[in-house]
Amino acid sequence: MPVLSTRTGAESETDVLCSPGRGDVLDVVGIGFGPSNLALAIALAEYNQEVPEADRVSARFYERQPAFGWHRGMLLKDTTMQVSYLKDLVSMRNPCSRFSFLAYLQARDRLVDFINHKTLFPSRREFHDYLEWAAEPFRGAVDYGREVVDVVPVEEAGEVTHFQVLTRAGGQQAEPAVQRARNVVVAGGLRPRLPDGTSLSDRVWHTSELLGRLETLPAGPGQAPRSFTVVGAGQSAAETVAHLHGEFPDADIHAVFARYGYAPADDSAFVNRIFDPEAVDHFYTSPDDVKEMMFDYHRSTNYSVVDIELIDELYRRLYQEKVAGKQRLHVHNLTRLLTADSGDEHVRVGIEFLPTGRRDVLRTDYLVLATGYRPTDLHGILGSVEPILCTDKGRVRVNRDYSVESTLPGPAAIYLQGPTEHSHGIASSLLSNTAVRAGEITKALVKGLVRDIDAPRAPALTAAAPV
Ligand SMILES: Cc1cc2nc3c(=O)[nH]c(=O)nc-3n(C[C@H](O)[C@H](O)[C@H](O)COP(=O)(O)OP(=O)(O)OC[C@H]3O[C@@H](n4cnc5c(N)ncnc54)[C@H](O)[C@@H]3O)c2cc1C
Repeated sequence: MPVLSTRTGAESETDVLCSPGRGDVLDVVGIGFGPSNLALAIALAEYNQEVPEADRVSARFYERQPAFGWHRGMLLKDTTMQVSYLKDLVSMRNPCSRFSFLAYLQARDRLVDFINHKTLFPSRREFHDYLEWAAEPFRGAVDYGREVVDVVPVEEAGEVTHFQVLTRAGGQQAEPAVQRARNVVVAGGLRPRLPDGTSLSDRVWHTSELLGRLETLPAGPGQAPRSFTVVGAGQSAAETVAHLHGEFPDADIHAVFARYGYAPADDSAFVNRIFDPEAVDHFYTSPDDVKEMMFDYHRSTNYSVVDIELIDELYRRLYQEKVAGKQRLHVHNLTRLLTADSGDEHVRVGIEFLPTGRRDVLRTDYLVLATGYRPTDLHGILGSVEPILCTDKGRVRVNRDYSVESTLPGPAAIYLQGPTEHSHGIASSLLSNTAVRAGEITKALVKGLVRDIDAPRAPALTAAAPV
C-alpha cells in the first residue's frame, strides 16, 4: 500500500493513493481542494507517516476547477499576502513539515533572496506558486474538474454509517458518480456576492474573474477601454482600482462606494491576536452577545478595509493628477450603486449621491463589482444531508472540532472548513488558522475512525515528496 513518502527509498516515487475498488468506503472525502483541504491532506499524510499501516487514513478530494487554483482572477501584479508566510499550510501546526513556505523557498532556490527581501508578506503570485507546489504531490488523491453535487446519508439500524458523495464532471447532464465515505470535509470556499438587481455579463464582472476578463479584451489600436467603474471599498476594490489605473493609462477609472473613504485594515499586533488559535476557543465558548461584540469590535481586521500602503498610493495618484490638471481617477464616495444596464457598447451605471439623493448615470466601458463574497451555499453541496443537520437560528450547529451536530447518531460525520464564522469566529474563512484547524480535524477524524476500527478500510492517503 502506498504511504506518505519521504525523499528516501522505494516510497519516494509514490504519487498517491486511494484507488476505488480496494475497500470502497473511504475514511474521508474532501469537497474542494483549496488551501483548507490541501492543509488537511498534508496533515493526514503526515499522520499516516507516523502510524502503523493498519491505522492509516484513506482520503480522496474533489475539486471542480480543472487544476489547482487559488483566486486566480485576483493574482494581480504587485499584490501581496495579508497574512504572514509563517501562517502557511503547516507551520503553525508542524514547523518541521516539509510542506512549509520555507521548504518551498528552498526547493525553488530562493530562500536566501527571500530573507534579504525582509518581508513577512510574499506576493500573492508567489504564494499561489507555493500552494501549487504543495498540492502537486497530492495530484493522485484529487479528482480535478469534478464537482460534488450532493451528499446522501446512509442509515443502518438508526445510525448513519457513511455517506454517498455524488460527483459530476462535464456539466449538468453528466451521470453522477458515487463515492462512499465515512466522513466528509466540506471546504468549498466563498462565492461572489453581487449587489441586488445586478447580473454578470461581458461588460459587468465580479473581481473574482478580473484577470481572465482583462485577458480577453480586444488589444488592437483604438480598441483599449476608455473607462472602468469599480464598485466597492474593500481590499479587492482598491487593488482593482490601482491595477486598472496602472494598466490602462488612457482610461478613466471611477471608484464608487458608500463610505466616506477607503478605511485602513487593522493589523496591529494586539488586535491581530483575534486570529490566534486561542481566539477560536474564546469565540467558540462565548455567549451570542459576546460573539457579536467581538465581531463588531474587530470587523476592521478583514471586512471592507484596505492595506494602508495601498490607500496612501491611491491618494498619491489622485493628488498628482490634481497637480497635473488631468484627472482620470474619480472617487465617488458616499455614493451607492442603483442600476447596471449592460449594452453592446457600454454599461449605464445608475448611482446616487447619498447626502443629497442626487442621481446620475455613468456611461462606462466595463463595470467591476468588487462587492465581496458570501460563504459556501451548504444547501447546494449537502442537499440530502441537510434534514439530519442540527440548526440554530437558521445556521448549522458546529462542534468545536468542526464536525456538524447531527440528529442521527453514528460514526459518520460532516466537517466544515470555512462557513463557521458564527461558531468559530472571524478567522474561519481566512488562512490564519488553516494549519491548526487541519490538525484539529485530523485528530477528530482519527478519534472517530478508531471507534469504527472494525470497518473495512480503503488504502491510505499518501503524498510524494514535493519537488
Ligand atoms: C482575492 C483574495 C485574496 C485573499 N487573500 C487572503 C490573504 O492574503 N490572507 C488570508 O488569510 N485570506 C485571504 N483570502 C481569503 C480566502 O478565503 C482564503 O485565502 C482561502 O482561499 C480559503 O481557502 P479554502 O480552501 O477554504 O477556500 P477556497 O480557496 O475558495 O477553495 C475552495 C475550493 O473548493 C472548490 N469547490 C467549491 N465547491 C465545490 C464543489 N461542490 N465540488 C468540488 N469543488 C468545489 C472551489 O473550486 C475552490 O477551489 C483571500 C480571498 C480572496 C478572494
